[in-house]
Amino acid sequence: MEQYTPMIQQYLAIKKDYPDTFLFFRLGDFYELFFDDAILASRELEITLTGRGGGGDEKIPMCGVPHHAADGYIAELLKKGHKVAVCEQVEDPKEAKGVVRREVTRVITPGTMMEGKWLTDKENNYMAALASLDGRTGIAACDMSTGELYITSVIGEGDSVLDEALQYRPKELVFVGFSALPKTALPFTVVDRNHMNAFAVDEQYGEQAKDLDLAMRAAVNGLLFYIGTTQKRSLSHMRLLKRYEANQYLQMDGFSRRNLELTETIRDKAKKGSLLWLLDRTQTAMGGRLLRRWIERPLLRQEELDARLEAVEALKSDLLLRADIRESLDRVYDLERLAGRISYGNANARDLIQLRHSLEAVPELKRLLTQTESRVLADIAQGMDECTDLVSLLHTALVDDPPISVREGGMIRSGYDEYLDKLHSASRDGKTWIAQLEQGEREASGIRSLKVGFNKVFGYYIEVSKANIANVPAGRYERKQTLTNAERYITPELKEREALILEAEEKMTELEYQLFVAVRSEIALHIPRLQSLAERIASVDVLQAFATVSDERGFIRPQFTNAGEYVITEGRHPVVEAVLDREKYVANDVQMDHSNRLVLLITGPNMAGKSTYMRQIALITVMAQIGCFVPAKEAKLSLVDQIFTRIGAADDLVGGHSTFMVEMLETRHALQKATERSLILLDEIGRGTSTYDGMALAQAVIEYICQKIGAKTLFSTHYHELTGLTDTLSGVVNVNARCEERDGKLLFLHKIEEGRADKSYGIHVAELAEMPVWVIDRARSILSGLEAGTAMSTDTQMSLEALWAAPVAAVREEPVSLLSEEEEAILADLRELDLNST
Ligand code: ADP
Repeated sequence: MEQYTPMIQQYLAIKKDYPDTFLFFRLGDFYELFFDDAILASRELEITLTGRGGGGDEKIPMCGVPHHAADGYIAELLKKGHKVAVCEQVEDPKEAKGVVRREVTRVITPGTMMEGKWLTDKENNYMAALASLDGRTGIAACDMSTGELYITSVIGEGDSVLDEALQYRPKELVFVGFSALPKTALPFTVVDRNHMNAFAVDEQYGEQAKDLDLAMRAAVNGLLFYIGTTQKRSLSHMRLLKRYEANQYLQMDGFSRRNLELTETIRDKAKKGSLLWLLDRTQTAMGGRLLRRWIERPLLRQEELDARLEAVEALKSDLLLRADIRESLDRVYDLERLAGRISYGNANARDLIQLRHSLEAVPELKRLLTQTESRVLADIAQGMDECTDLVSLLHTALVDDPPISVREGGMIRSGYDEYLDKLHSASRDGKTWIAQLEQGEREASGIRSLKVGFNKVFGYYIEVSKANIANVPAGRYERKQTLTNAERYITPELKEREALILEAEEKMTELEYQLFVAVRSEIALHIPRLQSLAERIASVDVLQAFATVSDERGFIRPQFTNAGEYVITEGRHPVVEAVLDREKYVANDVQMDHSNRLVLLITGPNMAGKSTYMRQIALITVMAQIGCFVPAKEAKLSLVDQIFTRIGAADDLVGGHSTFMVEMLETRHALQKATERSLILLDEIGRGTSTYDGMALAQAVIEYICQKIGAKTLFSTHYHELTGLTDTLSGVVNVNARCEERDGKLLFLHKIEEGRADKSYGIHVAELAEMPVWVIDRARSILSGLEAGTAMSTDTQMSLEALWAAPVAAVREEPVSLLSEEEEAILADLRELDLNST
């Protein structure tokens, strides 16, 4: 230590407490990073690495960013999962004896971002804490920007519990008390139970915390501990604790959620193309976030669903009323995040004006809602607090169009504060006096071009051009500044007035700031009211979004039945039909029940529409159970408690499992957890191993589902042999995705119909993919040999040997290419390119 300069010593002493963060060390107008931080940050941010003498033998690596541009760099680091500790100068350098005192004023982490510019409007920014205690894991997920906290606990502590927390798509995790940490690629922090305050949860949430189990309490305490150490300021807006049981909702594992593309697509992880994208006709940011939560947590209770559906029906039926409601919602800003900023003390006057406008929209919204046919909407409206007291406070206190800065005055409306008004009139009077001075002095001196002006250095002055200097009243004017063409003067009265004006203005800005902060603090006392209003507005917004999309896309209200039936007439895949356009989409029926039609075995060639059909059924279920109408002509559904899917290949490269292993793990998961109320979708199970193995496994899985579980299941397969199962196993029904051969070409009808497929058409699909004609012909001849039962005849063997021996060109006239003509042309162009000189 001694070798370093005092400032570097100070740096090292602070850095010691923040080992896993980038320490942004304020030095004048820059934030500097040193040592390893500098090396890593220069790489992550692509900024220049320099060095600085610091007392040691070698230069200390250093890089820096200007303080006014720091936000962008910080955001960049957060996006990459890093944390940033902001260390400020906490005393005036002019007054400092020795090194300026510095302190970390806050730590910004991916999960605790508050500032609007780092957040996405329609997305929550969660961080989650997991606490393991006596075989249970408590999970607490909170969004600091809105103040919500969700809490639950589940049995177990392995990787599987992580799934529940990952539903929130947290940006960051906190682990408390794990003997072995779950595997995760997210940034995480381990909190030691001995460090946290065991009563933090009671202090923050009071009565609401009373029934929490120990694992839940530990999770919340860990979370509060972590937030406390990073934020270093009040958490007063975090007052809403929402406890739930995971099995209160339709459950899906992370894989199924991804696979069904509920909130993002598999391929590019974008919202566009997901169910969320299709349904998102919300007008407010809060509604957008709530919609996402509803999609992630479909309901199980029919009363709740009927309530939502009733509201959607009412809104759907009245287009004009709905348009008015949408317009009225459009006037509401993000109340939840405004509330967060207000209680955090970083809301400015414009934020408060946004709050006022939002609140002013409420009475009209309430009036419109009570005009609908829906009892549910009327109840929601009834509970909306118009907050008239806050509106009138905001109205009397703040001008309509305040500046962004809260330090420059111009925010408070006249008439709100008597003393402020006095200062205003003093300043105004002074200015009028000065304005009149110009006229008076012109007359007194006879100088027509005399002017009164103002600049920051000299204040007010009287300016006389060189030509008129002779007429300046000597003695009364005092010369202050000489310009090329003019002289500037002051008089004692002018300076006196100026002092009054400046003093009044200085007092005004200070007083305005204080008055503003007082208004903000007053509003902060009412945060829970704003939060509950926000919640009501958000749910109205989601319900109108459902109504809007249902109306535009011709969705119908689903019926729920307890009879175990599951019947959809002319069902459609909502997203595929939206992308394809409606006329081209072929609607399909589904008919299942809990006895005779339990497992639908779907055969048909690749590309025939099997997995689209399976996904469509899962999506209709999800839509129905979030209270939305569904894309069908009629839907009579049983409520589903869990959905399991195994569709398509998704290699678990991170976990290091082969595709086949993943398939087996996921199938096991479904077989273990499914109940007779579950829906299972299995796509070509067993395909990843040899034919006989695969077929045997597939059959055993079907038998297990039929005999031991009784869950409704859709099972697509290439093994035509399995279609014979219907003879021996009751509950299994064959359906197939119909295709037709016309003029030797394969036509996909995308129609799912009863019965088994007659052929598998794999070779046709290869033909569609423009495989070389030689391969296609050869495959046909091998297939007919196989179908004739001769397996691989010697004849076939011979020809195979001939294949390897003969050059391909001998078989076809021209060399075989796997590329189309256009692709060949592109390739040729690419070959021509001289990259070195491009
Ligand atoms: P499979 O699972 O049988 O290989 P997919 O379900 O992936 O087939 O469907 C292949 C393509 O066919 C889809 O990308 C979609 O564009 C189209 N498709 C599927 N079902 C339909 C349908 N019902 N109507 C119109 N097009 C469909």
